[in-house]
Amino acid sequence: MGIRDNLELIRKQIPNDVKLIAVSKTKPIEDLYEAYYVEQRVFGENKAQELKEKAELMPKDIEWHFIGHLQTNKVKYIVPFVSLIHSIDSLRLLSEVNKEAIKNNRIVSCLMQIDIAHEQTKFGLLKQEAIELLTSVEYNDMKNIIFCGVMGIGSITDDKEQTRYEFRELKSIFKELKERFFSDTNNFREISMGMSDDYMLAIEEGSTMVRIGSSIFGARNYGTQL
Ligand SMILES: *Cc1c(COP(=O)(O)O)cnc(C)c1O
Repeated sequence: MGIRDNLELIRKQIPNDVKLIAVSKTKPIEDLYEAYYVEQRVFGENKAQELKEKAELMPKDIEWHFIGHLQTNKVKYIVPFVSLIHSIDSLRLLSEVNKEAIKNNRIVSCLMQIDIAHEQTKFGLLKQEAIELLTSVEYNDMKNIIFCGVMGIGSITDDKEQTRYEFRELKSIFKELKERFFSDTNNFREISMGMSDDYMLAIEEGSTMVRIGSSIFGARNYGTQL
């Protein structure tokens, strides 16, 4: 099956109100075009320079999402055009995004990455750290970023109940943060969870954005993926 068939199949499975982010990291530009030609307009990448290069080669009506670990010195590459940064995991990173956003005269939409898997190799804030960030003076002074919700990556496991538990935890943290910090705004409404192996489960548990790579574009070469 090719990219088009894969996309068609996935679109039939997911509800209309769940956004499908085609994760094209490591894939050549021809593959992105193949998805583009069948109306895919939302793409996700996890490396700042790769994202910038691809954005320059692709049509301008694409929404680019940054989904990987973001280093502060790379923020400048993506802030001028990125639609959503899924992976804010520190106040320091957020400050840098705000600073670059000011330079570019933009308001940048962000998600807080929450650590739900508790694996050494994964990034993200614990709930308490997210609360500390949201109550900090620095954050409350930032004018050029908007938090639109949370993102999480489930454990690498075959245990579906473990994954379900983690997704439930993310949803519950989302609700708590929304009630406590964002009750007066509609912006905070996204839960980015679910990848190729677990997106249907994520949708059952309340995901509003799924990030799907290999089920659309095929397996990636080992060593280049997350
Ligand atoms: C690579 C990646 C994905 C997509 O993974 P697949 O298993 O190929 O669907 C989703 N989210 C993040 C953060 C990623 O790095």
